Amino acid sequence: MSELKKRIQKVEQEIQTACDKSKRNRSEINVVAVTKSVSAARAEEVKNAGIIQLGENRAEGLIHKQEVIKDGVDWHFIGNIQSRKVRGIIDEIDYLHSLDRISIAKEIQKRATKKIKCFVQVNVSGESSKSGVSPEELEGFVTEIAAYDKIEIVGLMTMAPHIEDTELIRSYFRNLKELRDDIVSLKLPHAPCTELSMGMSNDFTIAIEEGATYVRIGTALVGAESEGNV
Ligand SMILES: *Cc1c(COP(=O)(O)O)cnc(C)c1O
Repeated sequence: MSELKKRIQKVEQEIQTACDKSKRNRSEINVVAVTKSVSAARAEEVKNAGIIQLGENRAEGLIHKQEVIKDGVDWHFIGNIQSRKVRGIIDEIDYLHSLDRISIAKEIQKRATKKIKCFVQVNVSGESSKSGVSPEELEGFVTEIAAYDKIEIVGLMTMAPHIEDTELIRSYFRNLKELRDDIVSLKLPHAPCTELSMGMSNDFTIAIEEGATYVRIGTALVGAESEGNV
């Protein structure tokens, strides 16, 4: 078995264990392979291994990968996006995971030629270094997005801090789920908000136990160029 297939199999086993533990069905979990730290050739290998949702966090990286991988995958933009970069990528992606500013919503409204599926990024841990809408501002922000009909809010996204305390990480994911449930109960037509994008290489099993429907996994799944293992 190739080194990549072994990684995929290991992640897959961990996903299944987390599903069993939390009595969830594997089919509820979408795996986005984050290819930002690997080559386009490696990303293509990932696609050929059957993972057809790929995530990039920079406009340049996305465009470069798309020159090599022309079709057959859903593209997820997971990084902080600058207003002036929206035009170049917005019609090229299937999901934006990092909507957190009205200025970006305005730019999407101006540039997109189709409806864009967006996750609102929430800063649940409150770290000043992290982007995202604060939990207190979330409802107001989501409500305001109704004015931009190119945007559909499909869910919420968060990044947990890199810490050892797994129970604290778990509390952040649980918090995001509660916020998601609050938004769902508003029954806003532009914001069905059923999805939860949470969990990375070091915490995806916790995220799945707490209700993630999209996990964004980079190094554990595809390796990293800097570690010399791809
Ligand atoms: C890089 C990145 C990931 C994946 O990180 P890993 O730790 O390599 O799994 C997930 N989400 C976002 C927003 C990222 O920037």
